[in-house]
Amino acid sequence: MRIVVKVGTSTVAHPTGLMNIRQMEHLCKVLSDLKNAGHQVILVSSGAIGMGAGKLGLKERPRDVASKQAAAAVGQCELMYTYDRLFLKYSHKVAQLLLTADDFTHPDRRANLEQALFRLLEMDALPVVNENDTVATEEIRVGDNDTLSAYVAEAAGADLLVILTDIDGLYTADPRKDPDARLIHVIPALTDEVMAMAGGSGSALGTGGMMTKLHAAQIVTAAGIDMVIASGRRPEALYDIVDGKEVGTRFLKNPSV
Ligand code: GLU
Repeated sequence: MRIVVKVGTSTVAHPTGLMNIRQMEHLCKVLSDLKNAGHQVILVSSGAIGMGAGKLGLKERPRDVASKQAAAAVGQCELMYTYDRLFLKYSHKVAQLLLTADDFTHPDRRANLEQALFRLLEMDALPVVNENDTVATEEIRVGDNDTLSAYVAEAAGADLLVILTDIDGLYTADPRKDPDARLIHVIPALTDEVMAMAGGSGSALGTGGMMTKLHAAQIVTAAGIDMVIASGRRPEALYDIVDGKEVGTRFLKNPSV
């Protein structure tokens, strides 16, 4: 299987903005093992701005554009340095791809991106993708990595997109506010009723909330790709997700594609 895994800032960093060593180590171990089992893996990782803010000692995620650009430049190095070391432990080679919306919408740039991505997969490298936050201005930004991961899954012709986040999946209501909220295991179709369950919540350091994840689900399921939202606290759950077992919320691909 070709699997795109997206991790949010809440998975790679603590709320302090400093690296969540346990979760990153588990994540890289499981992804390495999935590669050893013969799967192709592409990682879309957030955390550049959040970890840059942590490393620079900023108290919170920066709000102004220049500080975000600067934090991303610092944090992206930290992220890739960490991925490089952790994957090397299991003899896997990482490759950094920093993209903007243009890389998907301009036909020439998209062909260029696909060429590099497919060659990296042929070479058995592990592409690690993020938005190019240091230079991507508002007009050319994808804006959030949930949407970016959907674009990547589509461009890569993936079989599955897994979004790991700080919540177990899609609930009938916000479980942080409503004790009766239930986790939904399978979403066969993205109806208006499902879209209304999104709310707007996100974490302090990341960008997306449930809405951007449902938007990602719309993109990939329409392209014939299943998507799962699950908790990043236990990256080992990826084994069961890849085996098709019931973990988190699975959005089924549109059967007519
Ligand atoms: N590209 C951003 C970063 O690495 C994350 C965007 C998002 O949280 O969706 O900090």
